[in-house]
Amino acid sequence: MRNASKHVAGLRKRIARQLLCAALAAWPSIAAADSMKEAVAEDVRGLMPLYRDLHASPELSMKEVKTAAKLAVEVRKFGFKVTEKVGVTGVVAVMENGPGPVLLIRADMDGLPVVEQTGLPYSSKVKGVSATGIETSVMHACGHDTHMTAWIATAKRLAAMKAQWSGTLVMILQPGEETSEGARAMLADGLFSRFPKPQYALAFHDSASLPAGMIGYTSGPAAATVDSVDLVVKGVGGHGAVPHATKDPIVVAARIVSTLQTLISRELDPQDAAVVTVGSFQAGAKHNVIPDEAKLLLTVRTYNDKARELMLGGIARIARGEAIAAGLPEDKMPVMTVERDLSTPAAINTPEFTAHMAQVFAKRFGQDRVTPVPPPMVGEDFGRYRETDPSIQSLLFWVGGVPKTKWDAAGGDTMKLPSLHSPFWAPEAETVIATATEAMITATLDILKK
Ligand SMILES: [Zn+2]
Ligand SMILES: [Zn+2]
Repeated sequence: MRNASKHVAGLRKRIARQLLCAALAAWPSIAAADSMKEAVAEDVRGLMPLYRDLHASPELSMKEVKTAAKLAVEVRKFGFKVTEKVGVTGVVAVMENGPGPVLLIRADMDGLPVVEQTGLPYSSKVKGVSATGIETSVMHACGHDTHMTAWIATAKRLAAMKAQWSGTLVMILQPGEETSEGARAMLADGLFSRFPKPQYALAFHDSASLPAGMIGYTSGPAAATVDSVDLVVKGVGGHGAVPHATKDPIVVAARIVSTLQTLISRELDPQDAAVVTVGSFQAGAKHNVIPDEAKLLLTVRTYNDKARELMLGGIARIARGEAIAAGLPEDKMPVMTVERDLSTPAAINTPEFTAHMAQVFAKRFGQDRVTPVPPPMVGEDFGRYRETDPSIQSLLFWVGGVPKTKWDAAGGDTMKLPSLHSPFWAPEAETVIATATEAMITATLDILKK
């Protein structure tokens, strides 16, 4: 017994010595990592009043005038060369810091027409007027306020760490992500010609599907191609009591809506993914009048050209087929409009670059905080930068925002939690901002390493 315990004590001492040696060997990198982490945590604590201010004063898409002006003042303080009103309200902050690649870091600025119901003390009470002229409440229901605060924190720290990287930073604040107008507007206003053109592009989005502080990534398509389809279904109107003398467009449109459901269940490869949602069905104005047209508004989401053509072609075919089945003449076939130029392209994460960044993040945060996630069917116009020049190495990653207690209470079931765009979406902002800032800095020090 005694001998055995002596042996155990000796073993313990040896293990302790080995652990100490290992810790000392790793000391410089741990020290560097921790000092950056601490500096970021302190910066972010100091920026929380700015976050709360941004949260309380959201602006609708392409109207981010005060938001942009406020943040331009902040980022100028760190020594960036700042240009405002690029693509209506966009901001471009450039820092040239020796030879090396050009890295674009993007945050989006717009709020949504949502009535906030989080109950937070800094809830938004702002009203705005939508593009269609309707007065509406406005809320940062997609968390773009966390993106902007992390963008400022990233700019501040990278300016302070100038001696540790070499290259050019192009940090942009983009308007109109929610309406898919902003990236297009900034590119059209010379983002890639008036300013250094990037070889790398990074953005993050807060996530309602990951616990706070987790990082999620998808290789390849990370946000879907989004097409908006308008469908006008024609008929022959008349008295509601004389249906046989009419061609009721409501019945034809209802059949179209039903038959559209077979596009995905019967025509799309089960291994592929797509969404066809009819978000609006408008027809008629009175109980006893059969109208002469019905209007459907659809959103179509796909990840590849084959599925996209199958869905768009299928909608046209089904609409026409149902009109023929109803006995409508050739001049009363449904009219389908898709503005392909206005479609949001899929956001493609460059596979090799994504794999490399996932490793860099795992090294920084630990493997348990970095996880691959399946591609969602949401749209993100961040994909437009890489679409303009496919040689750009691009990554859009997710930063979890669900408070741990809420995540645990829901047993990790996101169906029980508020989603992005919900009036109840209240991410654990400080964790999102600190994690995203640390991730952006880590990525930048890797991409623009000396
Ligand atoms: Zn959104
Ligand atoms: Zn968003």
